[in-house]
Amino acid sequence: MTNIIGCHGAVWAGSIDDEGFRAMVEGTRKAGFDMLELPLLDPYGFDAKAARAILDESGLGINASLALSYDTDISSERPEAIAAGEALLERAVDVLHDLGGHYLIGVTYGALMKHAGPATEQGRRNGIEVLRRIAEKARAADMVLGLEVVNRYESNLFNTAKEALAYLDEIDNDNVKIHLDTYHMNIEESDMFGPVLASADKLGYIHIGESHRGYLGSGSVDFDSFFRALAIAGYTGPITFESFSSVVVDPGFSNMLAIWRNLWDDADDLGREANYFIRNKLRAVETITLQ
Ligand code: MN
Repeated sequence: MTNIIGCHGAVWAGSIDDEGFRAMVEGTRKAGFDMLELPLLDPYGFDAKAARAILDESGLGINASLALSYDTDISSERPEAIAAGEALLERAVDVLHDLGGHYLIGVTYGALMKHAGPATEQGRRNGIEVLRRIAEKARAADMVLGLEVVNRYESNLFNTAKEALAYLDEIDNDNVKIHLDTYHMNIEESDMFGPVLASADKLGYIHIGESHRGYLGSGSVDFDSFFRALAIAGYTGPITFESFSSVVVDPGFSNMLAIWRNLWDDADDLGREANYFIRNKLRAVETITLQ
């Protein structure tokens, strides 16, 4: 097994100030993960130098995810939002580079929100132009740019791996990869197998989340099919556990993702279980391609 296994910071804390970052690093390390996925919704106030010192001491790797908002929507037709979005993405690349990370992922291509209608052709082209520039800035920083495929209530640009592949063709930049998330796949895809194989060559990052975003194995996601598909696809990239509960609240994040329910209250237990769950599944499918 060569995949790096990570944990999303929202399992541990609702903010990325000094105290929050420490809690994320400590929780992730104690639960047995290799890497922290830092929620970098606001990369401006973040002290990357102080965080790097905490991170280096822990021995953990790091990557960062974000989601653009209405005011930073590069796939809109509003010049000020497009400019603000590009500036935010540039800043995120700089911050993650200072932290030593190699994957900037999430809803990096548009606003995470329930849109009132489909994306316009012009909006789509605007976003693609920005992403081409960000992809090159990321490449220079030894970093991959990932596009997370999310459900219809969170994006109007693409909601399935097949649609994301078409979007990727339009971008036409090999430093942009597809980021699949089992929570979103469970809503939009016909099965958990085909999308992984179809996007195998372009797959750069994985989120593992349950159907209700709680404990892995306690919802309706067909993880057996998904992990088999990863093995057959020969996926060697990062795999991150993502879960949210109303116990850990980031005001922006929780409201954006509609986290109203308390699905767990012991993050340490949740994290440990998720770390075992993911590693056990990967181990179980390791020999599939030899059979
Ligand atoms: Mn996700």
